[in-house]
Amino acid sequence: MSDLTPDFIEMAKCLFVGYKALTINETPVSCLLEDRSTSSIISIGYNYTNTSLNGTKHAEFIAVRKLKDKNPDIDFSTVKMYVSVEPCIMCASFLRQLGIGEVIYGCSNDRFGGNGTVLSVHSDSNLPQENYTSYGGILRTEAIQLLRNFYIQENESAPQPKIKKNKEIENKTFPPNRFNLSREEFIDHYGVERIGVFESGEEEITPKLGKGYSLKEFIDLKSLKDIPYLEEDLGVVTEDQVNEFLDLFFDISDDGKVNYSKAIRKFNSKKRHLEE
Ligand SMILES: [Zn+2]
Repeated sequence: MSDLTPDFIEMAKCLFVGYKALTINETPVSCLLEDRSTSSIISIGYNYTNTSLNGTKHAEFIAVRKLKDKNPDIDFSTVKMYVSVEPCIMCASFLRQLGIGEVIYGCSNDRFGGNGTVLSVHSDSNLPQENYTSYGGILRTEAIQLLRNFYIQENESAPQPKIKKNKEIENKTFPPNRFNLSREEFIDHYGVERIGVFESGEEEITPKLGKGYSLKEFIDLKSLKDIPYLEEDLGVVTEDQVNEFLDLFFDISDDGKVNYSKAIRKFNSKKRHLEE
């Protein structure tokens, strides 16, 4: 598979859903469900654990619930999930029981990941249901960066603001890019021409081989407004928000490395705007 642009477009939209969740003080973990035959978005989900005080309202559950409400007899093998963070063990098990067709995720979930980081619930042959394929690393650093914005503002709003901790988060480069795939699985999905990304651990997957990207290539106001459920659930999408969102992320250079020279901003929910 040499041109991954369609996956990057969907993941960029998915991250924007996470950004909208961040504006209501939710953890920016988000997902989109796509009909595999038409490639149209049929549901969205975002973390709803803070507002609802329900620790199980993960993005994946919300997206599936919405879809089932509308289409109770849906065959989930026809559905592809884009999720900003690797599904946790609980969600990974839920997706397997549903018989989800395929999962594409952004960054790994180092503490609870159920698609290979902690447990391989998606492929464990001891489980009775069908395996599902799961591929990570699409907009990986952007998914991490969005989460960092959440932790920074959490620290700032703590009774004793954890400024030192913020400095740690802000200074951090990104963790190595490790795939929860065998070499063969990686080649199968991403193509042998990208094997350098697999081997080095210091490069990101780019949509086109040898060509960097900026998130603004993948989204615009109209395509975001067209995401089903987004505006009714999380408010109107404005041009200002799109610009704020795009300012949160570094670009990726042609060599697949993060271009740290771009000045990015951080999200401040209290002031409801971004600061330098
Ligand atoms: Zn989960």
